[in-house]
Amino acid sequence: MVRAKKHLGQHFLREDAIADKIAGSLTGTSSSTRILEIGPGMGILTRSLLSRKFEQLKLIELDTESVAYLHQHFPTLKDAVIEGDFLKINLDKIFDGESFSIIGNFPYNISSQILFRVFENRERIPEVVGMFQREVAQRITSGHGTKDYGILSVLLQVYYHATYLFTVEEDAFDPPPKVKSGVLRLTRNQTPSLPVSDSFFKAVVKAAFNQRRKTLRNSLSAFLTKPHPEELAEVLSRRPEQMSPEDFINLAKALNDLKNPE
Ligand code: SAH
Repeated sequence: MVRAKKHLGQHFLREDAIADKIAGSLTGTSSSTRILEIGPGMGILTRSLLSRKFEQLKLIELDTESVAYLHQHFPTLKDAVIEGDFLKINLDKIFDGESFSIIGNFPYNISSQILFRVFENRERIPEVVGMFQREVAQRITSGHGTKDYGILSVLLQVYYHATYLFTVEEDAFDPPPKVKSGVLRLTRNQTPSLPVSDSFFKAVVKAAFNQRRKTLRNSLSAFLTKPHPEELAEVLSRRPEQMSPEDFINLAKALNDLKNPE
């Protein structure tokens, strides 16, 4: 058994039925699917994945003790286990640059960073199924007009259909976390790429939500140093939660044009 370490966000799932439900939430796994599991721990989800169809499965785990456990209990996965940090590894190296789906009962202390990485690498990540702290899963899947809608909801919903799947109670884990957990699915949509750079888009969305009670005219004043066209007046009178991902794309494009007029 692996001793649970708090700094690694280790809460081991105890129930096979829940692991099966998570693994079964990857849609369209087929013999051509490559899967990366983040943070397998003692492999409860891994075991369930192994009963499904896929082309290749790789596991990335930061904890040396868990890696040793996996080698001992899953000898056939010898070459599939990568000891390393998902936030630092070069994703091109894992499957030779081919695309892959991500699954995991994720370490909750790095949820946002995992999701930013998905956003940055969306061209090679067609699907994500994962367990997060429930509030985080709800936030990411909330639509505009709700109080949970925020930076990550916008960034991910620009490129993914985000669906909240189900809630998991504290006692399904050892040790139990202090909060409930939620499982979600992200499936890449048709949006090819943004008309502005990722970093500019992120900057606009972050500035808007950092002062979420203010109108965009106020929170985005740093982007509005030049006189702006009358057409922007209506949108700038809104608050960020009233903006769909599509509205944010259009606004970011308009602000970017203001910065670099043709
Ligand atoms: N999937 C297992 C363990 C979940 S706990 C289960 O459901 O029981 C989260 C796991 O993520 C732990 O095993 C922890 O060691 C691992 N982990 C934490 N940070 C990580 C990182 N940066 N990269 C890869 N794995 C990480």
